[in-house]
Parts: sequence; C-alpha cells; structure tokens
Amino acid sequence: MENMSEYPLELHGETPPMVKFKKVRKSYGALTVLDDLDLEIAEGEMVSIIGPSGSGKTTVLRMLMTLETINGGCIYVDGKPLTHMARNGALVPASQRHLRERRADIGMCFQHFNLFPHMTALENCMEGPVQVLGLSENEARERSEELLEMVGMIAKKDQHPSRLSGGQQQRVAIARALAMRPKVLLFDEVTSALDPEVIGEVTTVIRKLVSAHKLTMLMVTHQMGFARDISDRICFFYGGRIEEQGPPADLFGAPRRARTQQFLSAVKEAV
Ligand code: ADP
Ligand code: MG
Repeated sequence: MENMSEYPLELHGETPPMVKFKKVRKSYGALTVLDDLDLEIAEGEMVSIIGPSGSGKTTVLRMLMTLETINGGCIYVDGKPLTHMARNGALVPASQRHLRERRADIGMCFQHFNLFPHMTALENCMEGPVQVLGLSENEARERSEELLEMVGMIAKKDQHPSRLSGGQQQRVAIARALAMRPKVLLFDEVTSALDPEVIGEVTTVIRKLVSAHKLTMLMVTHQMGFARDISDRICFFYGGRIEEQGPPADLFGAPRRARTQQFLSAVKEAV
C-alpha cells in the first residue's frame, strides 16, 4: 500500500482550496488515465477543462463523484480527504460510509441528463432532498420549485422528461443537482447532446450560476467560446495531465505549449 505520510490529514492555511487532487493516479489495467495529477480549485472558482478525447477529462469528474476508486494519491474536498479518511493519525482508504457522507458535497450534470423517466420534473428535483438529505416533502418542494423557477422550468414542473426537449431536460437536471446544495458542481459536456438551437438556454443557466452563486464549479466542455467567456481558469488536459493552464485570455490568446496550440487550431478548424 502507498505510503500516505506526505499527505496531510486536513488542508490548513488561510484559504484552503475547495478541491485538491494531489498526485492522483488512475489506471485501467496497463492504461494510465490520470498520471500523478495535481489540480487545485479555489472556493467559488469556475474552472473549465478542455482537451482531446481520451485525455482523462471525464475521469477527473468521475473520481470526484467517487464513482470509482483511485490507484494512488489523494483527493480533498473542502479541506478534508474524500478518497481517504483519518484513522489513528494516518490516512487510510475511505470506507463506503465515508464516501457516502462526503459525496453529498458534490453534484454532477451529465451529457445525457439521466433524469428519472417515471418522475415529473418536480419529483426529479425532490427525490434526493427527501431520500438522501431527509427533508420533509414541503421543504423539498419549496426548494425544488425555487430552483425550477431559477432555471425557467417552473411552468413545466408536472411534466415527465419524455415530454420535455433536451434543453429543458438539462435545465431540470441542473435544478436537481442544485437541490442537494452541493459545495462543488460538475458539468460533463452538458451541451454536447443538445440541438444547436437549445444550447443557449442551458448556457444561460450556467452563466447565471456563475454570476449569482458562490458555487465552486468544474466544467468539461467542447464549447471554447463559452468556456472562454465564463471561466476563471482553463485547464488543457493531455494524456491524463494538465499540459497547460491559465486565465482564458492567456490560454486561448497566447498558448505557450505546442500541444495546446495544435489542439486549439484543430478545434478552430472544426467550427
Ligand atoms: P475524455 O473524457 O477526456 O474523453 P475519459 O476520461 O473518458 O476521456 O477516458 C480517458 C481514457 O480512459 C480513455 O482512453 C478511455 O478509453 C479510458 N477509460 C475510461 N473509462 C474506462 C473504463 N471503465 N475501463 C477502461 N478504460 C477506460
Ligand atoms: Mg469525456
């Protein structure tokens, strides 16, 4: 087992990052997908991840959702270990219970919405708060209706997903994630499965979140213009590592690394 002595039990300092990946390694058999990844996201920061297909972007989000275990390193959320827990003054791999508790800090929106098909928009939003957080039906309904209002879906709250357009379903999915009051919200290509004419209604909601909430957000996207507009920082992934990162104006305007330059000119040609 890995020697965890170089990993603190908690992150200290004046403003510890909301998310920290420290030397995180993830492999599938012989394939190394995350290669000693270091990544820090400050509280309230909006970070976008761009990069070629297969570079490990979705894997980063899946590790934060604790959908799978990592093979090395440690992930911290809100100053405390997520993938590990303290036992007798040392970090040991997290128990299922620890993961269940810590997972509540993180919400995720997927490319394919993943709404429950047999529930209405409102029921989709209420399900987690009632079942996982133990809110009363009334509290959950109030919270959910407020969020459906915010994403512009209150008029459709009693519709089932099959009666909603892709853009509408994605807006309900964002409200559903927010209903859990996560500290960190993850977006994985949430506009990639949408028809071009409804992409704007989803990006408008995300813009609203960026300007009105102090939520920490990590977004994987192929929409370079959108990422450039709303992000505090862009991370360009290549081969399971961050090849280059910086403020949008720098990364898009004056990329320093050859791989970043190649990627950006290739996506420009594709548009
Ligand atoms: P991206 O989102 O950047 O396109 P991913 O993070 O989904 O890339 O995948 C990174 C690499 O890991 C790819 O080569 C992919 O095939 C591989 N991979 C992802 N999930 C699995 C899995 N469950 N089993 C085996 N390989 C996987
Ligand atoms: Mg992906």
